[in-house]
Amino acid sequence: MDKASFSIHEGKPIRCKAAISRKPGEALVIEEIYVDPPQPYEVRIKILCTSLCHTDYTFCKLDSGPLARFPRILGHEAVGVVESIGEHVDGFQLNDVVLPVFHPHCEECRDCKSSKSNWCARFADDLLPNTRRYGMTSRFKDSFGKEIYHFLFVSSFSEYTVVDIAHLVKLSSEIPVNKAALLSCGVSTGVGAAWKVADVEEGSTIAVFGLGTVGLAVAEGARLRGAGKIIGVDLNPDKFELGKKFGVTDFINPALCGEKKISEVIKEMTRGGVDYSFECVGLPSLLTEAFNSTRTGSGKTVVLGIDKDLTPTSLGCLDLFRGRHICGSMFGGLKPKLDIPILVDHYLKKELNLDSFITHELKFEEINKAFDLLVQGKSLRCILWMDK
Ligand code: NAD
Ligand code: ZN
Repeated sequence: MDKASFSIHEGKPIRCKAAISRKPGEALVIEEIYVDPPQPYEVRIKILCTSLCHTDYTFCKLDSGPLARFPRILGHEAVGVVESIGEHVDGFQLNDVVLPVFHPHCEECRDCKSSKSNWCARFADDLLPNTRRYGMTSRFKDSFGKEIYHFLFVSSFSEYTVVDIAHLVKLSSEIPVNKAALLSCGVSTGVGAAWKVADVEEGSTIAVFGLGTVGLAVAEGARLRGAGKIIGVDLNPDKFELGKKFGVTDFINPALCGEKKISEVIKEMTRGGVDYSFECVGLPSLLTEAFNSTRTGSGKTVVLGIDKDLTPTSLGCLDLFRGRHICGSMFGGLKPKLDIPILVDHYLKKELNLDSFITHELKFEEINKAFDLLVQGKSLRCILWMDK
């Protein structure tokens, strides 16, 4: 190995800055932390930029149950550069530009080898550990030597992080890193849901409940697939103008539906219901409306939103008998290592609109301002730059 590709920190902890979520619902605190070197099958990466997804906000507020953990380093949309690698790491080298992804892809298990789903049978069921292969072992310590929890196997609100190779995708150097960061979660989830899970076909009608980044990415995926009518449903009226950039053709503000249910309005607009509906908020009541807004006999609903309280869903038995489909999806049904490079290609060919998702860019130190923008519905994705 030549000197230029050798990290001076290799094999040693790195001292750097991270934004720590110390207590539920409280602002993040920027602190000095230590990041341990990577173990076998792991890579330590220097984060270049990161963005915020609604899931970060959900977990920041979570105050009970096994998923509520503090102190924690949140963040799971980012691009980084490989700083050092553990043993048994094939396919990654120092200085590679990489995309960490919360959803695993071991490439070896039965499901990773099958084209039927993206549910990696080896790893995907296990959401609770800190590190993919080492249980609750953490690679982060605060300045008092106390361990800090990881988040979704990524923890990108830190200048350095350690990621398992099952959660890492090598990126083309052609795509700007701020655009690529969007592919770690929100945009891929939405585009993938239209492309892989629903398999939207030309001329079909769709309804998207919630026009945040995930919902708008569903619209974008459906637009790329040639969908005819794309109905956006959102309480924020500004989302219609924004949605047009991603192919939204019609808009419903639930607050203006009067006595009618949203599903009734959609059925009237489409003479019987949409072919596909997508729930991208995480509200059980909205899921019922999304389900009832699809066409009897063939309609399909894809559940993307995550309800903070994980409330069980109840659907009308007769509505199911009438031939409607419903399914959930993690990471839009995409297999990260196979499908992310395809999305990058679509972006480079100027087919996939990533640019319009970036509404704000701030310094990492301004992370709490970025949370405010997301919560107030003023931003889609806010890119936080580590070195600016
Ligand atoms: P976001 O906060 O950017 O967008 C949510 C949108 O929903 C906003 O435009 C808001 O105005 C709208 N909304 C809120 N309440 C509404 C209501 N009652 N009726 C209509 N519209 C309403 O969030 P996001 O980053 O796009 O994420 C959306 C959801 O997807 C979250 O629940 C997130 O946790 C989940 N998610 C799931 C996956 C997955 O793999 N399944 C991946 C990423 C995010
Ligand atoms: Zn697998």
